[in-house]
Amino acid sequence: MAHSTFKGGIHPHKRKRFTREKPIQEYYPRGELVYPMVQHIGGPAVPVVKAGERVLKGQVIARADGYISVPVHASVSGTVKAVEPRMTVSGNAVMSIVVDNDNQYERAPLEQMKPWQDLEPGERIMKIQKAGIVGMGGAGFPTHVKLAVKNPKKIRTVIVNCSECEPYLTSDYRRMVENPEWLVMGLKMILSLFERAVGIFAIEDSKRDAITSLQLASGKENRMEVKVLETKYPQGSERMLIYACTGKEINSSMLPADAGCIVHNVDTVCAIYQALAFGKPLTERVVTVTGKALVNPCNFNVPIGTSFSELIDAAGGFSKEPKKFVSGGPMMGISLFDLNVPVVKTSSALLCMSKDDVAGSVPGSCIRCGSCVEACPEQLLPAKLADLAEHFQEDTFRELYGMECLECGSCSFVCPARRHLTQSIRAMRRSLLVKGKR
Ligand code: SF4
Ligand code: SF4
Repeated sequence: MAHSTFKGGIHPHKRKRFTREKPIQEYYPRGELVYPMVQHIGGPAVPVVKAGERVLKGQVIARADGYISVPVHASVSGTVKAVEPRMTVSGNAVMSIVVDNDNQYERAPLEQMKPWQDLEPGERIMKIQKAGIVGMGGAGFPTHVKLAVKNPKKIRTVIVNCSECEPYLTSDYRRMVENPEWLVMGLKMILSLFERAVGIFAIEDSKRDAITSLQLASGKENRMEVKVLETKYPQGSERMLIYACTGKEINSSMLPADAGCIVHNVDTVCAIYQALAFGKPLTERVVTVTGKALVNPCNFNVPIGTSFSELIDAAGGFSKEPKKFVSGGPMMGISLFDLNVPVVKTSSALLCMSKDDVAGSVPGSCIRCGSCVEACPEQLLPAKLADLAEHFQEDTFRELYGMECLECGSCSFVCPARRHLTQSIRAMRRSLLVKGKR
């Protein structure tokens, strides 16, 4: 049977074999922990601790600054060493709290909570904010804001993004195989806020074990289904998922809620479960540490704030000279120039590549083959948009819907001339967004 999907897209090598069968291992950091105040979209968190103070695991060390913001919690016990700017994955120095780990992992007492079913919907959403939960798939949008829609009755579909379509990544896959009941409980908690909605675990057909574990775990839940999608990149993009699951299309100026949908990533749903069932704040996440340059690629459950450089040692060090490091997947991840930056709430992977395909390629002239147009999931004209971006033609770029680009990288991937299409389009989009031109 043909599985649901979207138009366009590509089939890159999955390269998930490195870590697919590697169960999640706990990682205990050795060095200092660094907590940037910007790990989410919205107001930066505000430090509430000073150098010299002792902190406990799970303690609030920075408060949310307003509604579109979340607090930050210590992921270990130890002593605050400094509150100062530190380098982050983005390449920018960001105000951060630095904690010396005492290796005791002494926990702050968990808040006494009523059973989650006895809480009012507003109280549930407030607990999610207090737990510091954000979209852990990469966007970092505060989860409580996404859940607090104006009219909950208009939400008809809650989608759990189980597609993990980026090559190499297996952190979500391992969660689905190892802890499917967390996902079912988390989705149940979200559905309790939207009485007319059904829940969908949207998953690619290549993830057979995860499909089976989710089907078994959710079998008795009459408001949930496991929807099997075609394995194709970028299946996990919010717009593509909504289209594949409901047939509804949204554009860059719409929210999923405008199409009656809410979409959450696997780790985020697990964090909601931990927060509402046990009062646990978000202090750790699963990170796939992978790539050909490593001796022993693994999936680790990592305390937030751990340095990426430690994870290289934990994965056995390098087997060959690394040429490129990426935080996240190879298609949409961020290249790292310094590994001494912390794992944050949105860090899904550390990829260590033994060759850099992009840096080594010399772009040629367009041969007008049309492959980029065929691959584009938004049905854009990537070759034309890249030309416009390179010549700073802002108005025509916008007229040709350049702002609808997902920056998914599919056009660059298929281009036989090796043109850096996504790079040019991304640069133009970002400069227009800074100018407030959508
Ligand atoms: S133009 Fe944008 S959305 Fe289309 S394939 Fe390229 S990067 Fe993806
Ligand atoms: S894929 Fe590359 S060569 Fe082909 S039309 Fe697009 S830009 Fe030109």
